[in-house]
Amino acid sequence: MSNKNIPVTQPFLPELSEFIPYLEKIWNNRWLTNNGPFHQQLEAELCKYLGVEHVSLFNNATIALITALQAMRISGEVITTPYSFVATSHSIMWNGLEPVFVDVDPATFNIDPAKIEAAITPRTTAIMPVHCYSNPCDVEAIQEIADNYGLKVIYDAAHAFGVNYKGESLLKWGDLSILSFHATKVFNTFEGGAVISPDAKTKQRIDHLKNFGIEDELTVTAPGINGKMSEINAAFGLVQLKHIQQAMEQRQAVDNRYRSMLADIKGISLYQHNQYANCNYSYFPILVEPDYPLTRDELYEKLKENNILSRRYFYPLISNMPMYRGLSSSSITQLPCANALADKVLCLPIFHELISEDQNYIIRLIKES
Ligand SMILES: *Cc1c(COP(=O)(O)O)cnc(C)c1O
Repeated sequence: MSNKNIPVTQPFLPELSEFIPYLEKIWNNRWLTNNGPFHQQLEAELCKYLGVEHVSLFNNATIALITALQAMRISGEVITTPYSFVATSHSIMWNGLEPVFVDVDPATFNIDPAKIEAAITPRTTAIMPVHCYSNPCDVEAIQEIADNYGLKVIYDAAHAFGVNYKGESLLKWGDLSILSFHATKVFNTFEGGAVISPDAKTKQRIDHLKNFGIEDELTVTAPGINGKMSEINAAFGLVQLKHIQQAMEQRQAVDNRYRSMLADIKGISLYQHNQYANCNYSYFPILVEPDYPLTRDELYEKLKENNILSRRYFYPLISNMPMYRGLSSSSITQLPCANALADKVLCLPIFHELISEDQNYIIRLIKES
């Protein structure tokens, strides 16, 4: 066992020598950003890899989420989940819209479709669900509600890189899906993200919006933003893509091992993978139940004292944060499952290089409590 800290995740980095030729190309052709050759190549290769038709690269997923809401001309209220990373709700706020929180299904961590209808008002125009920990939302039920009420569905798919559902990319569901390529995500470009569009026209609109709304030299059609990914990030993505399959397989081995060795610990429960989808093994959440000898926070502290940096994703719950807790939909009594999960969940370290010796050490610390 090493005595350095073991983080919750660690980015995959290829050999530096593998990246240098890409930098040399950038230096030679002097095309640094604005849809350069690596940018175009990464969009094309991601389409192939993900099994989607239209990818628009972004400088990060938060700007991509903000832009997606703009592109769909969303107004009024957006139904979303409180059990996510803050960027989900923040992107709604940055559009001057009101997030309306709906409770989650404790078995999937995702927005509970059975509770969506009760939250719809005349001002509701969209639903922004999250495929939490790469676990697919109940996309069929969500789409049916959206169709019945004429709502758009914009998926925060920041966790869902490479996930297929019933034989097709999960990213094809909804009106738009947004990926994150942040350093902590399974596939990273240091910083980065993407919007997946269903058709060429929508992609074009997104591409204009991420470039200040500029359509051509003389035409600006919308108050767009600067959401462009640079050539350096795109080039890095191309290198990353060559290794992603292997990195995910290594993560899968870590997941399998945790699952077999944590299966019978009293007070620790694990969530089940969706049987119709593959997982990208981006997170390994465990639930610390009341019959475990330590509270979740005590276990978190104990692991930390032993150099294991687990994370309480997602705690505190977005709806309990100062800028959201005043909303009527934030009331704890309306969000019992999300609040309970936020108090029970602990994400254990999972990354391609987590060696089994370190993993055994983590498991032992959890078992011996
Ligand atoms: C990471 C993350 C984001 C934000 O992604 P960035 O690329 O860092 O802007 C948004 N939503 C969720 C659910 C995330 O986990």
